[in-house]
Amino acid sequence: MSESFDIPFTSDVVPSMLSADSTIKFRCHKGISCFNACCKQADITLTPYDIIRLKKRFDISSGEFLKKHTVPFEMDADKVPGVKMKTTDEGACLFMTEEGCSVYEDRPTSCRYYPLGHLALRHKDTAEDEAHYVLIEEPHCKGHLEDREIQIRDYLAEQDVAMFKEMNREWLQLILKKKSGGPSVGKPPESSLQLYFMACFDMDRFRRFVMSDAFKKSYDLPDTTYEVLQQDDIALMKFGFQLMRQVLFAENTMPQHEQAWEKRSQEREEVWNARREVEMARYKKSEDDKYKNDV
Ligand code: SF4
Ligand code: SF4
Repeated sequence: MSESFDIPFTSDVVPSMLSADSTIKFRCHKGISCFNACCKQADITLTPYDIIRLKKRFDISSGEFLKKHTVPFEMDADKVPGVKMKTTDEGACLFMTEEGCSVYEDRPTSCRYYPLGHLALRHKDTAEDEAHYVLIEEPHCKGHLEDREIQIRDYLAEQDVAMFKEMNREWLQLILKKKSGGPSVGKPPESSLQLYFMACFDMDRFRRFVMSDAFKKSYDLPDTTYEVLQQDDIALMKFGFQLMRQVLFAENTMPQHEQAWEKRSQEREEVWNARREVEMARYKKSEDDKYKNDV
């Protein structure tokens, strides 16, 4: 195995590795003595798809959602940005109510997997990830004492994980590749990290960037692609992952206009020259006026 990546990211629990066929003893229900205890100590890392689901639920933009409901953090030593759910000062999730989770149908990936940690492992000689799981047994969670045995695949089906798993896959691969690439991938420049944040988390701003003339001048994409990206959050999210693979790992799958970079530099130079000419003319006029007054 080369590398691993897990949800939740900060778990320090490293018990035996489980597969989808493994059986766990667990049940969570409203009548349990610890009801809501996990949400009172919430450390929830959000995936791009989690944000799409939640911003849609509240009918707000990604920017508004990020501002109101999240805090940024750095996912690794190279400062790759991530976002976590905002909590109260005591650590409770802001979506928790007496009745339970107020966003239950759209709750994030980490909440669905709990008490399982999910690890994507990749063999060095294959492109496929293998899903493995660890059981997180925290003292406050009494669900492990309940008398119910269930296979992990059935537990995940019960938590409606399939869509989230599918939608998170490419993002996890992106992070896994960044981690397993090590020094050969190197520390991304600040501009790439900012683009990554926008593409993965602030997708409404990313959409404006993709629709801008500057972007269209750089990338040679058909109009139909832009029409889809204008309408469809999921297509935009996947497009963002593709763009980031190109930016971070030089996987050149997105055609660029020939000499786009040279053209952009030339345009910048033209703007710079025009500004300089305006400044020169202004200076010349003020000098002329000065002498006119002296005469
Ligand atoms: S989103 Fe819902 S399930 Fe997840 S921590 Fe918050 S209240 Fe709990
Ligand atoms: S059983 Fe565990 S997951 Fe369920 S409410 Fe209690 S602490 Fe949370």
